[in-house]
Amino acid sequence: MTARTHDLAAVTVLGIVAVSTLNIQITLGTALIALVANQLGGIAPDLDQPTAPFWRNLPVGGYFGKIIGRVLGGHRFISHSLIGMAGFGFITDLFLKFLHPILPNLNTGVVWWAFMIGLVSHLVMDTLTKEGVPWLLPIPIKFGLPPIKKLRITTGEATEKAVFIAILGFDMWYCSTHYGKLLALLHNQII
Ligand SMILES: [Zn+2]
Repeated sequence: MTARTHDLAAVTVLGIVAVSTLNIQITLGTALIALVANQLGGIAPDLDQPTAPFWRNLPVGGYFGKIIGRVLGGHRFISHSLIGMAGFGFITDLFLKFLHPILPNLNTGVVWWAFMIGLVSHLVMDTLTKEGVPWLLPIPIKFGLPPIKKLRITTGEATEKAVFIAILGFDMWYCSTHYGKLLALLHNQII
């Protein structure tokens, strides 16, 4: 699945979770960093692919991408599993703990959750593709939904574009039906 679809899915889930569960006040800085973290989480598992947009946008990214890809065992391997998810969660937590003294007003818990929401949405979306996801590594089985491969999405093809448009349509429906809650969130909880 392409980075564009992953980013849209990540921000969609983040929006739903924020509207339905965020009951504390956070600074505008936390909200913006959480949004960036969510988008990074949404593409992080594909760091195992040297051709991923993240690597392509770095000056010598292709070179690093190859090394990291090898360390992670190749595409759709450890970074696309529950173990990988725990690893990403641990490293992000360490990084945020390091950032905290520099940015004391940053709610690192909110940023961590935003990253993890993006990460989980990535694995769920990849589960809908023909290749599937090895959720339970080291058990080397790739899981996919629906179970019949032919009915799943092919990355970059018409089915993925249809899913992208469907998520956009859902977002428009969600924003219009939860407009009051969204406004209340922006007015009352971001300070
Ligand atoms: Zn992926």
